[in-house]
Amino acid sequence: MIPYGKQDINQQDIDMVIEVLQSDYLTQGPQVPLFEQAVHHLTQSQYAVAVNSATSALHIACLALDVGKGDIVWTSTISFVASANCALYCGAIINFVDIDAETYNLCPIELEKKLQQAKQQNKLPKVVIPVHLAGQSCDMEKIHHLGMEYGFHIIEDAAHAIGGKYQDQPIGNCLYSDITVFSFHPVKVMTTAEGGIATTNNVRLAKKMQLLRNQGITRDKLLMTEKSHGDWYYQQLELGFNYRMSDLHAALGISQLKRLGAFCRQRQVLANDYDQLLGKLPIILPKQLETTTSSWHLYIIELKLDKIKKTHKQVFHQLREAGIGVNLHYIPIHLQPYYKSLGFNIGDYPIAEEYYSTAISIPLYTQITKIQQQKIISELEKVIV
Ligand SMILES: *Cc1c(COP(=O)(O)O)cnc(C)c1O
Repeated sequence: MIPYGKQDINQQDIDMVIEVLQSDYLTQGPQVPLFEQAVHHLTQSQYAVAVNSATSALHIACLALDVGKGDIVWTSTISFVASANCALYCGAIINFVDIDAETYNLCPIELEKKLQQAKQQNKLPKVVIPVHLAGQSCDMEKIHHLGMEYGFHIIEDAAHAIGGKYQDQPIGNCLYSDITVFSFHPVKVMTTAEGGIATTNNVRLAKKMQLLRNQGITRDKLLMTEKSHGDWYYQQLELGFNYRMSDLHAALGISQLKRLGAFCRQRQVLANDYDQLLGKLPIILPKQLETTTSSWHLYIIELKLDKIKKTHKQVFHQLREAGIGVNLHYIPIHLQPYYKSLGFNIGDYPIAEEYYSTAISIPLYTQITKIQQQKIISELEKVIV
């Protein structure tokens, strides 16, 4: 089976990890700050706080923005469940915004409509979490503008989007948000095996996230509320977690980050190939906006079912049977049984549900060969024509 995504590990990556394995620190050593520096440099943000997953980063990002019991958080229903779960961890109320039918990202027009209604009902969100689906940025300028108008904070879920750009600036610079979160899970654009990072330009948010990832503990005398008992002394100031990234993971991240430019260029080449070679099929190709440069985590097509004699489910199944590891990003979060139990229902977000009935992610990763890409295209032709 050709998978839909796969990591790209070379000898340099392996050597960097081995070096750390043989060093004095497997965790809480020098690699994590070095990785953070590299990410803050890449994204042109002021601070970067590395953690053990993007899910952890989303959680402490919400907490840093004081999301708590009874607060309202909105995100896109076409995302991984982590984008919504983070709000529930904080005791907040989650709600969703429908997607734009062309980019599949959180739709700023729908957002504005929903904000107008919420204002009348006194139910405005404290935080909105736009998700850069497949690696293409949301319309952040517009969302930021609405944030100023309606008074909400913004966390960019850029789990798919490291290396991508918006208005020619790196995603993660937080020009239009409070915090941006990236994931380094192996299917994403670059990997640390498990891992994530939050970038911000706000020193208070950065310090809070640093505390929360490590039990709420500090050794910084400036932050302490009582006199030190001695050189061993530390203080717990908040209820935090063990969300630390290890030095092994960070070393892999440093090495992968050096290759990120090449990864994104290769993904762009493969996406361009697909654009050209799939153009005649009865499918909708991924629409790219002028203001965005995608990192191409995913290549998502939509079936034009009125021009195909099969159902979405049949096409998906037959591609898998033919060895093409297609996938579907994502089952709308509001249709998950857990979210249904919170009161969401079929019909709540019609554009997202329509998308879900036609979308398929076809394989895209750096090491796909020309021959594999040919096979993917010819199987697609066979199955849907
Ligand atoms: C993968 C992903 C996450 C979670 O990332 P982890 O590092 O696995 O915790 C969050 N949001 C989106 C959109 C994702 O794709």
